[in-house]
Amino acid sequence: MQIVIASKNKGKIKEIKAFFKNLDIRWLTFEDFSSFPDIEETGSNFIENAKLKAKKIAEHTNKLTLADDSGLAVDHLKGSPGIKSSRYSGMDATDKDNRAKLLKELKHVCDVKERKAKFICSMVLWDPRKGSIFETSNICEGFIGRVEEGSGGFGYDSIFFPEGYRKTMAQLTQEEKNRISHRGSALKKLHKFLSSEI
Ligand code: IMP
Repeated sequence: MQIVIASKNKGKIKEIKAFFKNLDIRWLTFEDFSSFPDIEETGSNFIENAKLKAKKIAEHTNKLTLADDSGLAVDHLKGSPGIKSSRYSGMDATDKDNRAKLLKELKHVCDVKERKAKFICSMVLWDPRKGSIFETSNICEGFIGRVEEGSGGFGYDSIFFPEGYRKTMAQLTQEEKNRISHRGSALKKLHKFLSSEI
């Protein structure tokens, strides 16, 4: 089976491939196509954006396509950066810029309860002939640390402590992260779907 991953985010691609490493799926990415459109994320929530990405790439490649729209919602910031997580500090922001901006915004928030946050991941699998055939939304709760810790993962991992852990997401192995993360939960459900439906 071949599935296209509708993302240019190498962190996401790595996690998806690692999760399914024992299944006979050939994952295709933007690197396998001569053109791969950038998609404007105009949806008002994660699932809408995941659908936009999945549909557009499935139509472009004419192949079964998986899209992941995800981000971080911080309680103290009323859910920001949310769907704008990848561009929190500007359109060309790097992950490092975004983390720096978030740490600055929370600099004076000392109570750990006030630093609560959650990662959200919506996934959609799109069949170019049938449309959306699988959708899921999942969260991973935790809190934002005060400094960066760890070098694994991507995005906000080095400043996010999953609930019940004394390590940031960036200090976990890929397997540990996939076991507890928002994306890992989505992938578990996708695994079940692929095993039963296809
Ligand atoms: P998207 O490509 O529009 O879905 O944006 C995803 C953004 O959310 C990433 O660029 C990261 O900033 C953040 N994000 C999503 N999932 C994770 C994760 O597992 N770890 C850290 N940051 C994440």
